[in-house]
Amino acid sequence: MNSRTEERIVLISVHGDPAIEVGKEEAGGQNVYVRHVGEALAKLGWKVDMFTRKVNAQQDDIVEHTENCRTIRLKAGPTDFVPRDDIFDYLPEFVDNLLKFQQENDFTYPLIHTNYWLSAWVGMQLKQIQGSQQIHTYHSLGAVKYNTVNKVPLIANTRLEVEKNVLETAERIVATSPQEEEHMRSWVSSEGQIDIIPCGTDIERFGGVDKAAARAKLRSKAQTVGNELKFSLDEEIVMYVGRFDRRKGIETLVRAIRKSNLFNSPNLKLIIAGGSRPGQSDGRERERIENIVDELGMRQVTCFPGRLSQEDLPLYYAAADVCVVPSHYEPFGLVAIEAMASGTPVVASDVGGLQFTVVPEETGLLAPPKDVEAFCSAIDRIISDSQWRDKLGQAGRKRVETKFSWNGVAHQLSDLYTEISNITPADAPSLIEK
Ligand code: UDP
Repeated sequence: MNSRTEERIVLISVHGDPAIEVGKEEAGGQNVYVRHVGEALAKLGWKVDMFTRKVNAQQDDIVEHTENCRTIRLKAGPTDFVPRDDIFDYLPEFVDNLLKFQQENDFTYPLIHTNYWLSAWVGMQLKQIQGSQQIHTYHSLGAVKYNTVNKVPLIANTRLEVEKNVLETAERIVATSPQEEEHMRSWVSSEGQIDIIPCGTDIERFGGVDKAAARAKLRSKAQTVGNELKFSLDEEIVMYVGRFDRRKGIETLVRAIRKSNLFNSPNLKLIIAGGSRPGQSDGRERERIENIVDELGMRQVTCFPGRLSQEDLPLYYAAADVCVVPSHYEPFGLVAIEAMASGTPVVASDVGGLQFTVVPEETGLLAPPKDVEAFCSAIDRIISDSQWRDKLGQAGRKRVETKFSWNGVAHQLSDLYTEISNITPADAPSLIEK
Protein backbone atom coordinates (compact mmCIF):
# COMPACT_ATOMS: atom_id res chain seq x y z
CA MET A 1 0.00 0.00 0.00
CA ASN A 2 1.49 3.30 -1.04
CA SER A 3 0.21 5.19 1.91
CA ARG A 4 1.77 8.24 3.52
CA THR A 5 2.21 9.01 7.18
CA GLU A 6 0.05 12.00 7.90
CA GLU A 7 1.54 14.05 10.71
CA ARG A 8 -1.70 14.61 12.47
CA ILE A 9 -2.85 14.06 15.98
CA VAL A 10 -5.84 11.81 16.23
CA LEU A 11 -8.15 12.03 19.20
CA ILE A 12 -10.53 9.10 19.45
CA SER A 13 -13.64 9.48 21.54
CA VAL A 14 -16.07 6.79 20.42
CA HIS A 15 -18.97 7.69 22.70
CA GLY A 16 -18.15 11.31 23.53
CA ASP A 17 -18.75 13.38 20.40
CA PRO A 18 -16.64 16.57 20.69
CA ALA A 19 -18.95 18.43 18.31
CA ILE A 20 -22.17 17.73 20.18
CA GLU A 21 -23.96 19.87 22.77
CA VAL A 22 -22.91 18.95 26.31
CA GLY A 23 -24.90 18.61 29.51
CA LYS A 24 -26.98 15.59 28.57
CA GLU A 25 -26.82 12.05 29.87
CA GLU A 26 -23.81 10.78 28.00
CA ALA A 27 -22.38 14.14 26.99
CA GLY A 28 -20.26 15.71 29.68
CA GLY A 29 -16.66 16.28 30.63
CA GLN A 30 -15.15 13.96 28.04
CA ASN A 31 -16.82 15.77 25.13
CA VAL A 32 -15.61 19.11 26.51
CA TYR A 33 -12.11 17.78 27.11
CA VAL A 34 -11.65 16.31 23.64
CA ARG A 35 -13.04 19.36 21.89
CA HIS A 36 -10.97 21.89 23.82
CA VAL A 37 -7.80 19.86 23.72
CA GLY A 38 -8.30 19.41 19.97
CA GLU A 39 -8.89 23.08 19.31
CA ALA A 40 -6.02 24.18 21.56
CA LEU A 41 -3.63 21.73 19.89
CA ALA A 42 -4.66 23.09 16.49
CA LYS A 43 -3.72 26.57 17.69
CA LEU A 44 -0.26 25.21 18.49
CA GLY A 45 0.12 24.08 14.87
CA TRP A 46 -1.09 20.47 15.00
CA LYS A 47 -3.59 19.12 12.51
CA VAL A 48 -6.21 17.47 14.64
CA ASP A 49 -8.72 14.80 13.59
CA MET A 50 -11.23 13.75 16.24
CA PHE A 51 -13.10 10.51 15.58
CA THR A 52 -16.40 9.64 17.15
CA ARG A 53 -19.45 7.42 16.53
CA LYS A 54 -22.32 8.76 14.45
CA VAL A 55 -25.52 8.61 16.51
CA ASN A 56 -28.11 9.98 14.15
CA ALA A 57 -28.59 10.13 10.41
CA GLN A 58 -28.96 13.93 10.37
CA GLN A 59 -25.48 14.48 11.79
CA ASP A 60 -22.79 15.69 9.41
CA ASP A 61 -20.04 13.15 8.77
CA ILE A 62 -17.42 15.85 9.20
CA VAL A 63 -17.60 18.99 11.33
CA GLU A 64 -14.85 21.57 10.85
CA HIS A 65 -14.20 23.31 14.18
CA THR A 66 -11.30 25.43 13.00
CA GLU A 67 -9.04 25.30 9.99
CA ASN A 68 -6.91 22.52 11.47
CA CYS A 69 -9.35 20.77 13.72
CA ARG A 70 -12.30 18.62 12.73
CA THR A 71 -14.64 15.95 14.07
CA ILE A 72 -15.14 12.90 11.86
CA ARG A 73 -18.16 10.70 12.57
CA LEU A 74 -17.92 7.03 11.69
CA LYS A 75 -20.66 4.47 11.43
CA ALA A 76 -20.47 1.73 14.05
CA GLY A 77 -23.64 -0.23 14.66
CA PRO A 78 -27.02 1.48 14.42
CA THR A 79 -26.97 5.18 13.55
CA ASP A 80 -28.72 5.85 16.83
CA PHE A 81 -27.98 6.55 20.47
CA VAL A 82 -26.56 3.44 22.16
CA PRO A 83 -25.71 3.53 25.89
CA ARG A 84 -21.97 3.29 26.35
CA ASP A 85 -22.16 -0.10 28.07
CA ASP A 86 -23.65 -1.54 24.86
CA ILE A 87 -21.21 -0.12 22.31
CA PHE A 88 -18.36 -2.62 22.57
CA ASP A 89 -19.71 -5.05 19.96
CA TYR A 90 -19.76 -2.30 17.34
CA LEU A 91 -16.12 -1.34 17.79
CA PRO A 92 -14.70 -3.65 15.08
CA GLU A 93 -16.85 -1.75 12.58
CA PHE A 94 -15.52 1.53 13.99
CA VAL A 95 -11.94 0.30 13.44
CA ASP A 96 -12.76 -0.87 9.88
CA ASN A 97 -14.28 2.49 9.02
CA LEU A 98 -11.33 4.36 10.47
CA LEU A 99 -8.96 2.23 8.39
CA LYS A 100 -11.14 2.88 5.35
CA PHE A 101 -11.02 6.62 6.02
CA GLN A 102 -7.22 6.46 6.12
CA GLN A 103 -7.13 4.43 2.91
CA GLU A 104 -9.43 6.80 1.06
CA ASN A 105 -7.26 9.71 2.12
CA ASP A 106 -4.05 7.82 1.50
CA PHE A 107 -2.45 8.33 4.88
CA THR A 108 -1.79 6.50 8.12
CA TYR A 109 -2.08 8.07 11.54
CA PRO A 110 1.12 7.53 13.51
CA LEU A 111 -0.03 8.84 16.89
CA ILE A 112 -3.38 8.24 18.50
CA HIS A 113 -4.72 9.70 21.72
CA THR A 114 -7.64 7.62 22.96
CA ASN A 115 -10.30 8.63 25.48
CA TYR A 116 -12.26 6.21 27.71
CA TRP A 117 -11.88 2.43 27.57
CA LEU A 118 -13.97 1.92 24.40
CA SER A 119 -11.57 4.11 22.44
CA ALA A 120 -8.64 2.43 24.20
CA TRP A 121 -9.68 -0.82 22.53
CA VAL A 122 -9.84 0.90 19.14
CA GLY A 123 -6.37 2.37 19.72
CA MET A 124 -4.95 -1.02 20.65
CA GLN A 125 -6.25 -2.48 17.37
CA LEU A 126 -4.64 0.35 15.36
CA LYS A 127 -1.42 -0.26 17.22
CA GLN A 128 -1.49 -3.93 16.23
CA ILE A 129 -2.60 -3.38 12.65
CA GLN A 130 -0.40 -0.45 11.65
CA GLY A 131 1.96 0.24 14.53
CA SER A 132 0.34 3.51 15.63
CA GLN A 133 1.61 4.84 18.93
CA GLN A 134 -1.01 5.25 21.62
CA ILE A 135 -1.60 7.75 24.40
CA HIS A 136 -4.61 7.14 26.57
CA THR A 137 -6.77 9.15 28.99
CA TYR A 138 -9.23 7.06 31.01
CA HIS A 139 -11.81 9.71 32.06
CA SER A 140 -13.23 7.04 34.36
CA LEU A 141 -11.80 3.83 35.77
CA GLY A 142 -14.01 0.77 35.81
CA ALA A 143 -12.30 -0.60 38.91
CA VAL A 144 -13.16 2.54 40.87
CA LYS A 145 -16.60 3.06 39.35
CA TYR A 146 -17.82 -0.47 39.99
CA ASN A 147 -16.95 0.03 43.62
CA THR A 148 -19.48 2.85 43.88
CA VAL A 149 -22.45 1.26 42.11
CA ASN A 150 -24.91 -1.38 43.27
CA LYS A 151 -25.28 -3.12 39.92
CA VAL A 152 -22.25 -4.05 37.85
CA PRO A 153 -23.00 -4.25 34.09
CA LEU A 154 -22.34 -7.37 32.00
CA ILE A 155 -19.56 -5.59 30.15
CA ALA A 156 -17.55 -5.07 33.38
CA ASN A 157 -14.99 -7.84 32.87
CA THR A 158 -14.23 -6.80 29.30
CA ARG A 159 -13.80 -3.21 30.43
CA LEU A 160 -11.48 -4.12 33.30
CA GLU A 161 -9.36 -6.24 30.97
CA VAL A 162 -9.09 -3.50 28.34
CA GLU A 163 -8.22 -0.95 31.03
CA LYS A 164 -5.40 -3.16 32.31
CA ASN A 165 -4.08 -3.93 28.82
CA VAL A 166 -3.99 -0.32 27.73
CA LEU A 167 -2.14 0.75 30.87
CA GLU A 168 0.48 -1.89 30.21
CA THR A 169 0.85 -1.41 26.45
CA ALA A 170 0.22 2.24 25.55
CA GLU A 171 3.23 4.47 24.97
CA ARG A 172 1.88 6.72 27.71
CA ILE A 173 -1.14 7.12 29.95
CA VAL A 174 -2.36 10.59 30.86
CA ALA A 175 -3.79 10.77 34.37
CA THR A 176 -5.66 14.00 35.01
CA SER A 177 -4.83 14.14 38.72
CA PRO A 178 -2.37 12.51 41.15
CA GLN A 179 -5.40 10.80 42.70
CA GLU A 180 -6.25 9.15 39.38
CA GLU A 181 -2.66 7.95 38.98
CA GLU A 182 -2.77 6.48 42.45
CA HIS A 183 -6.02 4.66 41.60
CA MET A 184 -4.47 3.21 38.43
CA ARG A 185 -1.54 1.92 40.41
CA SER A 186 -3.53 0.42 43.23
CA TRP A 187 -6.49 -0.89 41.24
CA VAL A 188 -5.31 -1.57 37.70
CA SER A 189 -1.62 -2.40 37.25
CA SER A 190 1.86 -1.52 38.47
CA GLU A 191 3.13 -1.65 34.87
CA GLY A 192 3.01 1.08 32.24
CA GLN A 193 4.07 4.71 32.17
CA ILE A 194 1.83 7.46 33.50
CA ASP A 195 2.15 11.25 33.14
CA ILE A 196 -0.06 13.67 35.04
CA ILE A 197 -1.61 16.34 32.81
CA PRO A 198 -4.80 17.84 34.24
CA CYS A 199 -7.99 18.79 32.45
CA GLY A 200 -8.36 22.46 31.69
CA THR A 201 -10.86 25.21 31.26
CA ASP A 202 -11.31 28.34 29.22
CA ILE A 203 -10.10 31.08 31.54
CA GLU A 204 -11.36 33.79 29.24
CA ARG A 205 -14.88 32.45 28.85
CA PHE A 206 -15.24 31.77 32.58
CA GLY A 207 -14.48 34.70 34.83
CA GLY A 208 -15.14 37.56 32.46
CA VAL A 209 -18.13 38.88 34.39
CA ASP A 210 -18.72 39.75 38.06
CA LYS A 211 -21.62 38.61 40.19
CA ALA A 212 -23.74 41.77 39.93
CA ALA A 213 -23.39 41.97 36.15
CA ALA A 214 -24.05 38.24 35.73
CA ARG A 215 -27.23 38.47 37.81
CA ALA A 216 -28.39 41.54 35.91
CA LYS A 217 -27.93 39.72 32.60
CA LEU A 218 -29.72 36.63 33.86
CA ARG A 219 -32.51 38.79 35.26
CA SER A 220 -33.17 40.13 31.83
CA LYS A 221 -33.49 36.56 30.57
CA ALA A 222 -35.50 35.43 33.61
CA GLN A 223 -38.66 34.72 31.67
CA THR A 224 -36.91 31.69 30.20
CA VAL A 225 -36.03 30.42 33.70
CA GLY A 226 -39.67 30.81 34.72
CA ASN A 227 -39.57 30.22 38.47
CA GLU A 228 -39.08 31.86 41.83
CA LEU A 229 -35.49 32.78 41.12
CA LYS A 230 -35.12 36.52 40.56
CA PHE A 231 -31.34 36.82 40.35
CA SER A 232 -31.65 39.78 42.68
CA LEU A 233 -28.55 40.80 44.61
CA ASP A 234 -29.89 39.69 47.98
CA GLU A 235 -30.44 36.09 46.92
CA GLU A 236 -28.05 33.42 48.22
CA ILE A 237 -27.62 31.14 45.22
CA VAL A 238 -26.35 27.59 45.55
CA MET A 239 -25.76 25.86 42.22
CA TYR A 240 -25.32 22.36 40.86
CA VAL A 241 -24.55 21.93 37.18
CA GLY A 242 -23.89 18.66 35.39
CA ARG A 243 -25.49 15.50 34.20
CA PHE A 244 -28.47 13.93 35.92
CA ASP A 245 -26.87 10.72 37.09
CA ARG A 246 -27.30 9.13 40.49
CA ARG A 247 -23.55 9.06 40.99
CA LYS A 248 -23.46 12.84 40.75
CA GLY A 249 -25.00 12.92 44.24
CA ILE A 250 -27.62 15.61 43.55
CA GLU A 251 -29.81 14.06 46.24
CA THR A 252 -27.14 14.82 48.87
CA LEU A 253 -27.19 18.48 47.87
CA VAL A 254 -30.99 18.72 47.96
CA ARG A 255 -31.14 17.18 51.44
CA ALA A 256 -28.29 19.40 52.63
CA ILE A 257 -30.16 22.52 51.54
CA ARG A 258 -33.28 21.35 53.36
CA LYS A 259 -31.23 21.12 56.56
CA SER A 260 -29.52 24.45 56.06
CA ASN A 261 -29.87 27.17 58.73
CA LEU A 262 -30.77 29.46 55.87
CA PHE A 263 -33.56 27.26 54.56
CA ASN A 264 -36.28 29.43 56.01
CA SER A 265 -34.81 32.60 54.59
CA PRO A 266 -36.68 33.72 51.48
CA ASN A 267 -33.32 34.51 49.90
CA LEU A 268 -31.90 31.02 49.68
CA LYS A 269 -32.15 29.61 46.14
CA LEU A 270 -31.01 26.28 44.75
CA ILE A 271 -30.31 25.88 41.03
CA ILE A 272 -30.05 22.35 39.64
CA ALA A 273 -28.94 22.72 36.04
CA GLY A 274 -28.34 20.11 33.36
CA GLY A 275 -30.09 18.52 30.42
CA SER A 276 -32.28 15.44 30.52
CA ARG A 277 -34.52 13.46 28.23
CA PRO A 278 -37.81 12.09 29.48
CA GLY A 279 -37.77 8.30 29.60
CA GLN A 280 -33.96 8.04 29.42
CA SER A 281 -31.84 7.45 32.49
CA ASP A 282 -31.09 11.18 32.93
CA GLY A 283 -34.80 11.98 32.63
CA ARG A 284 -35.58 9.38 35.28
CA GLU A 285 -32.95 10.79 37.63
CA ARG A 286 -34.30 14.31 37.18
CA GLU A 287 -37.79 13.04 38.00
CA ARG A 288 -36.46 11.28 41.10
CA ILE A 289 -34.75 14.48 42.25
CA GLU A 290 -37.85 16.56 41.56
CA ASN A 291 -39.88 14.13 43.67
CA ILE A 292 -37.44 14.53 46.56
CA VAL A 293 -37.64 18.32 46.17
CA ASP A 294 -41.44 18.09 46.40
CA GLU A 295 -41.43 15.67 49.33
CA LEU A 296 -39.16 18.02 51.26
CA GLY A 297 -41.33 21.01 50.46
CA MET A 298 -38.55 22.73 48.53
CA ARG A 299 -40.28 23.67 45.29
CA GLN A 300 -40.26 27.37 46.14
CA VAL A 301 -36.51 27.53 46.53
CA THR A 302 -35.47 25.17 43.76
CA CYS A 303 -35.08 25.92 40.10
CA PHE A 304 -34.41 23.49 37.24
CA PRO A 305 -33.34 25.59 34.26
CA GLY A 306 -32.45 22.52 32.13
CA ARG A 307 -29.31 22.33 30.05
CA LEU A 308 -27.28 25.53 30.22
CA SER A 309 -25.98 26.77 26.90
CA GLN A 310 -22.35 27.71 26.43
CA GLU A 311 -23.45 31.33 26.47
CA ASP A 312 -25.40 31.15 29.76
CA LEU A 313 -23.09 28.83 31.66
CA PRO A 314 -20.45 31.47 32.56
CA LEU A 315 -23.24 33.80 33.77
CA TYR A 316 -24.72 31.13 36.04
CA TYR A 317 -21.34 30.28 37.56
CA ALA A 318 -20.59 33.94 38.19
CA ALA A 319 -24.06 34.57 39.61
CA ALA A 320 -23.83 31.72 42.12
CA ASP A 321 -22.55 32.20 45.68
CA VAL A 322 -21.37 28.64 45.87
CA CYS A 323 -21.15 25.77 43.39
CA VAL A 324 -21.63 22.28 44.78
CA VAL A 325 -20.14 19.12 43.27
CA PRO A 326 -21.54 16.30 45.43
CA SER A 327 -20.40 13.35 43.24
CA HIS A 328 -19.91 9.92 44.75
CA TYR A 329 -16.80 9.70 42.61
CA GLU A 330 -15.20 12.09 40.13
CA PRO A 331 -12.03 11.29 38.13
CA PHE A 332 -11.47 15.02 37.51
CA GLY A 333 -14.64 17.13 37.58
CA LEU A 334 -14.58 20.01 35.10
CA VAL A 335 -17.44 21.79 36.82
CA ALA A 336 -15.25 22.50 39.86
CA ILE A 337 -12.59 24.34 37.85
CA GLU A 338 -15.17 26.14 35.73
CA ALA A 339 -16.77 27.50 38.91
CA MET A 340 -13.39 28.42 40.37
CA ALA A 341 -12.40 30.17 37.13
CA SER A 342 -15.61 32.17 37.52
CA GLY A 343 -14.59 33.31 41.02
CA THR A 344 -17.13 31.09 42.77
CA PRO A 345 -16.16 28.90 45.74
CA VAL A 346 -16.77 25.17 45.46
CA VAL A 347 -18.10 22.67 47.98
CA ALA A 348 -17.21 19.25 46.64
CA SER A 349 -17.02 15.63 47.64
CA ASP A 350 -13.70 14.63 49.09
CA VAL A 351 -12.97 12.18 46.26
CA GLY A 352 -10.80 11.70 43.17
CA GLY A 353 -9.80 14.71 41.12
CA LEU A 354 -11.82 17.05 43.35
CA GLN A 355 -9.15 16.55 46.02
CA PHE A 356 -6.67 17.92 43.50
CA THR A 357 -8.63 20.87 42.14
CA VAL A 358 -10.36 22.18 45.27
CA VAL A 359 -8.06 23.30 48.09
CA PRO A 360 -10.06 23.09 51.32
CA GLU A 361 -10.30 26.37 53.26
CA GLU A 362 -8.58 28.15 50.34
CA THR A 363 -10.78 27.77 47.25
CA GLY A 364 -13.75 26.00 48.82
CA LEU A 365 -14.48 23.06 51.10
CA LEU A 366 -14.50 19.28 50.79
CA ALA A 367 -17.04 17.01 52.43
CA PRO A 368 -17.31 13.21 52.54
CA PRO A 369 -19.52 11.96 49.68
CA LYS A 370 -23.20 11.35 50.55
CA ASP A 371 -22.72 13.12 53.91
CA VAL A 372 -25.73 15.45 54.07
CA GLU A 373 -24.69 17.06 57.38
CA ALA A 374 -21.18 17.81 56.16
CA PHE A 375 -22.41 19.33 52.89
CA CYS A 376 -24.96 21.37 54.79
CA SER A 377 -22.46 22.85 57.21
CA ALA A 378 -19.88 23.51 54.46
CA ILE A 379 -22.48 25.37 52.35
CA ASP A 380 -23.71 27.32 55.38
CA ARG A 381 -20.19 28.34 56.38
CA ILE A 382 -19.53 29.84 52.98
CA ILE A 383 -22.92 31.45 52.46
CA SER A 384 -22.97 33.07 55.88
CA ASP A 385 -19.62 34.82 55.52
CA SER A 386 -19.62 36.92 52.38
CA GLN A 387 -16.10 38.24 52.86
CA TRP A 388 -14.65 34.79 53.20
CA ARG A 389 -16.75 33.63 50.27
CA ASP A 390 -15.23 36.34 48.06
CA LYS A 391 -11.74 35.46 49.24
CA LEU A 392 -12.26 31.78 48.42
CA GLY A 393 -13.59 32.78 45.00
CA GLN A 394 -10.55 34.94 44.22
CA ALA A 395 -8.14 32.21 45.30
CA GLY A 396 -10.02 29.70 43.12
CA ARG A 397 -9.67 31.95 40.10
CA LYS A 398 -5.94 32.27 40.70
CA ARG A 399 -5.51 28.52 41.09
CA VAL A 400 -7.22 27.84 37.76
CA GLU A 401 -5.20 30.54 35.98
CA THR A 402 -1.93 29.01 37.11
CA LYS A 403 -2.76 25.31 36.82
CA PHE A 404 -5.78 24.55 34.66
CA SER A 405 -5.96 26.62 31.48
CA TRP A 406 -6.63 24.69 28.23
CA ASN A 407 -3.64 26.35 26.62
CA GLY A 408 -1.33 25.16 29.41
CA VAL A 409 -2.80 21.67 29.16
CA ALA A 410 -2.42 21.62 25.36
CA HIS A 411 1.24 22.68 25.67
CA GLN A 412 1.92 19.79 28.02
CA LEU A 413 0.15 17.31 25.73
CA SER A 414 1.96 18.71 22.70
CA ASP A 415 5.33 18.19 24.43
CA LEU A 416 4.31 14.64 25.29
CA TYR A 417 3.31 13.85 21.68
CA THR A 418 6.65 15.19 20.47
CA GLU A 419 8.59 13.25 23.08
CA ILE A 420 6.92 10.02 22.02
CA SER A 421 6.78 10.42 18.26
CA ASN A 422 9.47 12.96 17.41
CA ILE A 423 6.81 14.87 15.51
CA THR A 424 6.64 18.56 16.35
CA PRO A 425 3.65 20.78 15.72
CA ALA A 426 5.70 22.71 13.18
CA ASP A 427 5.95 19.49 11.12
CA ALA A 428 2.32 18.76 11.55
CA PRO A 429 0.89 20.16 8.33
CA SER A 430 3.41 18.32 6.16
CA LEU A 431 2.79 14.99 4.45
CA ILE A 432 5.62 12.51 4.41
CA GLU A 433 5.88 9.67 1.90
CA LYS A 434 6.32 6.32 3.60
N1 UDP B 1 -22.34 21.20 31.10
C1 UDP B 1 -22.91 22.15 30.25
N2 UDP B 1 -24.23 22.45 30.38
C2 UDP B 1 -25.03 21.85 31.30
C3 UDP B 1 -24.45 20.89 32.17
C4 UDP B 1 -23.09 20.58 32.03
O1 UDP B 1 -22.23 22.73 29.40
O2 UDP B 1 -26.21 22.16 31.37
C5 UDP B 1 -20.89 20.90 30.99
C6 UDP B 1 -20.10 21.46 32.16
O3 UDP B 1 -19.87 22.83 31.98
C7 UDP B 1 -18.83 20.62 32.12
C8 UDP B 1 -19.33 19.27 31.61
O4 UDP B 1 -20.64 19.50 31.05
O5 UDP B 1 -17.89 21.16 31.21
C9 UDP B 1 -19.40 18.24 32.72
O6 UDP B 1 -18.11 17.79 32.99
P1 UDP B 1 -17.65 17.11 34.39
O7 UDP B 1 -16.22 16.72 34.23
O8 UDP B 1 -17.95 18.02 35.53
O9 UDP B 1 -18.60 15.84 34.54
P2 UDP B 1 -18.84 14.55 33.61
O10 UDP B 1 -20.02 14.89 32.75
O11 UDP B 1 -17.61 14.29 32.80
O12 UDP B 1 -19.14 13.45 34.57
